[in-house]
Amino acid sequence: MIAARVRSTTLRGPETELSGGDPYRAKLKFRDGTRCPGCGAVYRAGMWAVDADAMLGVYEALCPSCHRVRDCLPAGYLRIDAHFAVAHRDQILQLLEDQHDIFCRAEPLARIMSMQDCDGAIEVTTTDAELARSLGEALQTEYGGEIVLRYNEAHHPVRVLWQP
Ligand SMILES: [Zn+2]
Repeated sequence: MIAARVRSTTLRGPETELSGGDPYRAKLKFRDGTRCPGCGAVYRAGMWAVDADAMLGVYEALCPSCHRVRDCLPAGYLRIDAHFAVAHRDQILQLLEDQHDIFCRAEPLARIMSMQDCDGAIEVTTTDAELARSLGEALQTEYGGEIVLRYNEAHHPVRVLWQP
């Protein structure tokens, strides 16, 4: 059973600043018609949208994702075990890109901020904590293995480790 192979812990530490939800979404109020100069998303009826129709905006402000990118403060981290990453690098990167595209249909602001090689392991940072979990789950669906999730107190996954 997949659920049996997911372990989770609650973090106390720097990540607990995310308690109560994503502060980049919770604290910022946007006016209808606000356009993000970073990615072109437009805030309308309480939601950010990224589509051709949404390119016109009356006001300008960074969206929560561009804000995170500017501050270099990811909401989610995914680490892929070096042993496996070295042997399957191209397939893994393609799988992550594909899963990101799928996830963005529902969450248009969710982005992969970086994908880095770290002594053979692949480390991915995201602007959305749920995206990090979704990427880990896609790896598990494709290759099996185990996901270790570390949540903050608000139960948003912050760090996701996938290992075969
Ligand atoms: Zn933006």
